[in-house]
Amino acid sequence: MGYPRVLVVTSCTGEKRCKPENQLTLEDFKEKARLQQREAQLTQFACPAGQMYTGQQHLRAMEGVQLLRQSLGREAVDVVILSAGYGVIPEDKTIVPYEVTFNTMKGYEVGEWAKFLGAREAFEKAIAGYDLVFVLLGENYLRSLSLPVETSPDQTLVFLASKTTATHIQGLAARTFILSLSNAEAKRYHCGLVGLKGFLLKRGLEKVAKQPQLLETIYREPKEFERVINTDFVQLELPLEVERVQPVGKNGRKGRLKVKSQTTETNDELKEKDREFLAIPPLPPAPNIHLGMQYFIPEWDDKVDPNYDFYNDISPPGRDTYADDVYAHEIYNIPNYDGILVSKYIIDKSKKKKAKVDEIGIREYIRFSGKVMGDCGAFGYIKEEVPPYTSEQVLDYYQKGGFNYGVSVDHLIVGPFAEPGVREKRYDLTLHNADDFLRKHRAGGYEFKPMGAAQGWNPETYAKAVKACIEMGYDYIALGGLARTPSKQIIEILKAVHPHLTPNTRLHLFGVARMNAIPAFRHLGITSFDSASPLRRAWLGSGDNYNSLSGKKYAAIRVPPVDGYGVRVRRLLEAGVAKRETLKSLEQDALKALRQFDTGNLSLDETLEKVLAYDELVELPRDGKADPKAQAKRRAKHEVMYRKLLEDTPWKSCDCPICKEIQVEVVIFRGNNRNRRRGFHNTYVFYQRFKQIIKNLT
Ligand SMILES: [Zn+2]
Repeated sequence: MGYPRVLVVTSCTGEKRCKPENQLTLEDFKEKARLQQREAQLTQFACPAGQMYTGQQHLRAMEGVQLLRQSLGREAVDVVILSAGYGVIPEDKTIVPYEVTFNTMKGYEVGEWAKFLGAREAFEKAIAGYDLVFVLLGENYLRSLSLPVETSPDQTLVFLASKTTATHIQGLAARTFILSLSNAEAKRYHCGLVGLKGFLLKRGLEKVAKQPQLLETIYREPKEFERVINTDFVQLELPLEVERVQPVGKNGRKGRLKVKSQTTETNDELKEKDREFLAIPPLPPAPNIHLGMQYFIPEWDDKVDPNYDFYNDISPPGRDTYADDVYAHEIYNIPNYDGILVSKYIIDKSKKKKAKVDEIGIREYIRFSGKVMGDCGAFGYIKEEVPPYTSEQVLDYYQKGGFNYGVSVDHLIVGPFAEPGVREKRYDLTLHNADDFLRKHRAGGYEFKPMGAAQGWNPETYAKAVKACIEMGYDYIALGGLARTPSKQIIEILKAVHPHLTPNTRLHLFGVARMNAIPAFRHLGITSFDSASPLRRAWLGSGDNYNSLSGKKYAAIRVPPVDGYGVRVRRLLEAGVAKRETLKSLEQDALKALRQFDTGNLSLDETLEKVLAYDELVELPRDGKADPKAQAKRRAKHEVMYRKLLEDTPWKSCDCPICKEIQVEVVIFRGNNRNRRRGFHNTYVFYQRFKQIIKNLT
């Protein structure tokens, strides 16, 4: 999977590279002809917007952006600037110096001028399509956006804003986190209030540059951004090797960074057709090879409404999301995983969930009759000096919850915590806890199977930890801290672990599921692993949302609802793109056409025509007006993607219950009930292919 696509939105600053006496003023921006004439007088001072501003906020923010780009490539992050003169502009737009700021305007002046600039529409347009957006705006700049704007629940917005301005941030469909700032924070970070937002963004991006997996973490749990900036960074002991390739045109998402390395649990897992399996090292098969290999999926409340009415796009009245919604394993006769991994830290984050799990036990909570593995979720408390749980607490929790497997209390040795001096402490603590956990497990007569956690920072330390766990008496050991380690390095670790394994030793790999490494991992003794990436791919990114058993991947067809969130539609209506009734009828025509196509009652070309007729109109207006160029571009791009899907009709040849039951709905990108079902289907495909690989090996 590519990393989340990142956008930084920052504001213009009064300080600029040069301040010619005749710089532009507010009056100059009011009339296009005058603006052009005045700009011509100032051409010698012209430069790209990204380089024009010299205020602290802008400089620090751009330094952060550069660090991320050095690590992940130019396309990893885009920048737009909210200029009080030019409106919302990309960093490469050439501009000339001006003296206009929202900061000195009164509330109503901000509103009027922002309306003239079309700031709100431009902002909405600018952030569309980005997974993760950082917004660094002061009060009047935020005010100028008149939030809410249309965002998607699949987007994450992180606002760096002063405490008093948070009231301007409201009503967004996207996951939203406000890092609220005051003098206290400025003091804490030894930075003036001016520039603090830029400073903190830089601090965050600096860490992300070193540990790119944090992008996904922040995308999913934006609150984690605060933790990231509060963590002091030291070079990773196990370096990340990210190999970058240019984005390909076929997914149509310009600038999307595709990461073609083994550092991430990616959709590359599903791409082994394009890739070689990693070579199996010339060592005899691990003595535990007869134990096979199992796939666990992490529990993250992935559920759908089983009674959803796809024709009317509604759930039945009175639906209880906990009681009525179903997990994938309640839809598929045979679950698409051998087990589920539940992290205590994740459960504890929701009081309601924790209370329910305490009351009825984990197995009943997730309504799963297969194996349930529990761990503490060490990433959640990585910055604590010691884990927040004792062996007794987790032993009781696993026992009470009815877990099949329970992992000892561990502490991660990654990033800043792999620093000499820290890592030894965490290493000893993890082993000490494993010993304590097993002793108390035996003494207490607990019924679940204990697992010893092994952490380390190089092949030798991992090998030593595994050996120690085996000597303590463990026959199931979990290797932690390797989720983002390149497969080749994991193989080096497994080679060092290999001599210590016994025929009874099971070895779990946390957070690593890479198709191309499965044969090598299995050969070297891995007997289980976990990952959620096949599921999430269904709604992350614009292409490759639907995977097929043949190994091909397809974009899902976007038919956003006219009813529902509605902001996009409001924009379209305000811009006069079409009347609501027209949009509604085109939307329904598109859905109807897809259903007719599915039953063989409409040709591919006619279907595509109906789909694209709606699709091109939902392109967001630019400056409050329909943008025929952008519409045409969208249409051309989507035509290729959708045609491929409709030509192959992969859902028809899938025999999974979701594709069989909801048919063409599974490839329509529209709301949780279609999108997450598509994720369930992808998990099914992943699991089928995984089992095939294992079968071919035996
Ligand atoms: Zn299917």
